[in-house]
Amino acid sequence: MKFFFPDSQDQVDPTFDFQTEERDPFRVRQRDDLYAHEVLKPPPFNGLLVSKAIVDGTAGSSTGKYTLPQRHRLYRQGAREFFRLDNGSAPLKIMGDCGAFSYVGEEYPPYTVEEVVSFYEGCGFDYGISVDHVIFQYEPKVLRTDEAAKEWVRRQQITLDLAAEFWQRCSASDVHFTPLGVTQGWSPESYAYAVVELQRIGYRRIAVGGMVPLKTKEILACLRAIDDVRAPDTQLHLLGISRVDEIPTFAGHGVTSFDSTSPFRQAFKDDRDNYYALDRTYVALRVPQVDGNAKLKARIRSGEISQGQAMQLERAALARLREFDRGEIALDAALEALDAYSAVWDGKANRSSQYRDTLENRPWQACDCSICKKVGIETIIFRGAERNKRRGFHNLHVFGQRLRRQLGDDDRD
Ligand SMILES: [Zn+2]
Repeated sequence: MKFFFPDSQDQVDPTFDFQTEERDPFRVRQRDDLYAHEVLKPPPFNGLLVSKAIVDGTAGSSTGKYTLPQRHRLYRQGAREFFRLDNGSAPLKIMGDCGAFSYVGEEYPPYTVEEVVSFYEGCGFDYGISVDHVIFQYEPKVLRTDEAAKEWVRRQQITLDLAAEFWQRCSASDVHFTPLGVTQGWSPESYAYAVVELQRIGYRRIAVGGMVPLKTKEILACLRAIDDVRAPDTQLHLLGISRVDEIPTFAGHGVTSFDSTSPFRQAFKDDRDNYYALDRTYVALRVPQVDGNAKLKARIRSGEISQGQAMQLERAALARLREFDRGEIALDAALEALDAYSAVWDGKANRSSQYRDTLENRPWQACDCSICKKVGIETIIFRGAERNKRRGFHNLHVFGQRLRRQLGDDDRD
């Protein structure tokens, strides 16, 4: 089972100083910053998933994460060198897709097959996913012939037609990447229908799209329907799947790879499950920057609290946490400082008992990842991109461990 991590230019700055929160003034973004696979050992994923929409952006969307010079460098150097895929302790693969979520609201995908093939080939990808159009709905009882399925059938047909053209172009120009076709559907039967068509075209690697909003039992129903038509040598890739506990079950249905951002994103997008441990999750300790917190800035402007007072509480919270980590003060003293600051920036949510749980267990001290080993308690402090992304990397590390444990092997090459 191969895990691909969707790239969104998520890197950490190795020159960042956690005490002063300053950076090396000569640091160059991307070039000097480090990817998760350069920081963690073993690399927590088998490869990166790179979306054309993230690299190029689409009209009227803010998906693009690349500056123009970065984009040019990616094309010039190729993905292997740009992402420094051989810099980690194990070489990584690279898979490309179009980022169909970014244009889900459009009538028709904004990229031509020719553009996409030249993107994958030009950047030297290992795998390339055909151009697709997402179907969001899941309605197992709706048949192809029903009026309600009209738009879904249209999207599925676009996806199949583009897959046929993609296959043709890839074969004709003898590309160096392995092409994947995409199955989009709204029901188990419709997913299976598309798989039959894709296999007829010639595909033996098929990406299963549109699964993100589905419940686990719905995903399984689709995989079972696909089983009935799947050729023995057809391998499936699940696009954007976060239910990792089910991965071994998915593997039994021909799934050989998947991609997910959730271990990384939960570090700072989730209310509670911010920091992964092998058997549970913890809430991160929130100490936002006075300057970076909109609610707090509004209270300062209205005169409810002085800026000096807020900054003092912020500094005290950070200092007490570090003292607690070094064993210099008791848990209650650290918790009080955290709560005192929370009361001014976030009067509503009282996370005191969750913070106590995190502090009591000190999971950052038990973690063997290179991030926690190096920066310790800073990893679990919810504050700014440098800490939050490091916690995301830590989560990827633990996720990789969980995955290997669930699969009962160390499946890397
Ligand atoms: Zn860690």
